[in-house]
Amino acid sequence: MTTLKSFDPVDGTLVWEGEVADSEVVSAALLRARKAFAHWGSLPVETRTKAAERYRSALEVRKDALAETIARETGKPLWETRTEVASMIGKVGISIAAQAERAGEKRTDMPFGQAVLRHRPHGVMAVLGPFNFPGHLPNGHIVPALLAGNTVVFKPSEMTPATGALMAECWAEALADHPHVFQCIQGGRETGEALVAGAIDGLLFTGSAGAGAHFRRVFADRPDVILALELGGNNPLVAWDGDVDEAASVVVQSAFITTGQRCSCARRLIVPDTAFGSALVEAVAALADRIVIGAWNETPEPWIGPLISDAAAAAAKARFDGLVTRGAQVIRPFTGVEGRSAAFVTPAMLDVTGVFVPDEEIFAPVLQVSRVPDFDAAMEAANNTRFGLSAGLVSADDALWERFLVECRAGVVNRNRPTTGAAGSMPFGGLGESGNHRPSAYYAADYCAYPVASFEATDASGNAGALNGKLRP
Ligand code: NAD
Repeated sequence: MTTLKSFDPVDGTLVWEGEVADSEVVSAALLRARKAFAHWGSLPVETRTKAAERYRSALEVRKDALAETIARETGKPLWETRTEVASMIGKVGISIAAQAERAGEKRTDMPFGQAVLRHRPHGVMAVLGPFNFPGHLPNGHIVPALLAGNTVVFKPSEMTPATGALMAECWAEALADHPHVFQCIQGGRETGEALVAGAIDGLLFTGSAGAGAHFRRVFADRPDVILALELGGNNPLVAWDGDVDEAASVVVQSAFITTGQRCSCARRLIVPDTAFGSALVEAVAALADRIVIGAWNETPEPWIGPLISDAAAAAAKARFDGLVTRGAQVIRPFTGVEGRSAAFVTPAMLDVTGVFVPDEEIFAPVLQVSRVPDFDAAMEAANNTRFGLSAGLVSADDALWERFLVECRAGVVNRNRPTTGAAGSMPFGGLGESGNHRPSAYYAADYCAYPVASFEATDASGNAGALNGKLRP
């Protein structure tokens, strides 16, 4: 038996310990999910909706425990994990509405009867979750998948098994009369690989672009498996004009929230090579210096906590150092926080103007600043990426915004708001290496079911007439 453990990145205390699911356990779970699908997929959507509502009640009962568990496993401050749990609870109503609107039934009268659009579930869905929003993001696949009539086998991130276990407890309560419709298995990459190699009809994945590219290859010859990929980004924020302090606040929130561990964080700040650009960069650095960093349960509450692990901090530091070696100028160094675990780091900034920088996501609070001569160059820099998740413009100029909207290649494009701003009632997904054109959030209903179009008449009368006069005697 192999054991999986998760630790609080604040002080290394053990949070969760349990058994890793090996390939036999995974296969058995998939078999049970297959059997459960035969029944679950044929139930009326109202029955499944009631189950989702019971899940919501179970979440509400455990909302404090869940917020604390996410905080302990990720190091995110309680204010943020409470918001995450609220999003999980809100997701149920949003998914019910989305299921009805995007995957419901539509009837059109025809001379012979009716044209009917229905949606059918795919079958057994594997869900793999990331560590940074260990509740909200897998939840955003699981709720719509179950509502649509699929069964789900969920593997949480190996960094956040306790959060997954609590979600499983909620589903167990909600689905007490429907065994094996939702199952949670624990483990790392090997368990994920066993799940992906098993008899699944869909993989709903939120995680790194590298893993997403791997899955695209794995499923290239399995077109029957629906693949929904929500991946990382190398997101640009063009800050062009306006009040320097307000603009700096947009930048800091875009780049450093969640200690830079949001897929939608701005990684690249693009500013005009003018007095405004210089003042803004200075204001961003000054504001970043004032961010309260601390443990999730400290008073006063910190704005950000540590990175997910000491190893993540070391990896990000190596990437930062690599940029410096290439010639980037340090505006704020990437350093640890005195008296804290090695997972704690301070927001870092580099000026990379004129430096060749690899087009990669650094999943940490590292902001790369480029100064450009004009807006043409700003647009070129913004789009100079193989990713396309989020992007932002800070400007009061409507014409620039119109241009940004038309030319910018990203799935989330915000104006005068942080790049991380997103609503569950909207789609969320990216282009290029950031996804595979199957956005999640409100549009998750689209990939959780396939459409079936039918012409329907109560009997076969009226068909023979179509051949009248076109037949040999
Ligand atoms: P990750 O890709 O390392 O892991 C995600 C999940 O996939 C984990 O459960 C992991 O065990 C599993 N996994 C990874 N490689 C696998 C493989 N080869 N086979 C089977 N399973 C595998 O991602 P992470 O580090 O947990 O999360 C951070 C990443 O997720 C960042 O790149 C971030 O940008 C991205 N992300 C994207 C979104 C989005 O909605 N687009 C949201 C949050 C995070």
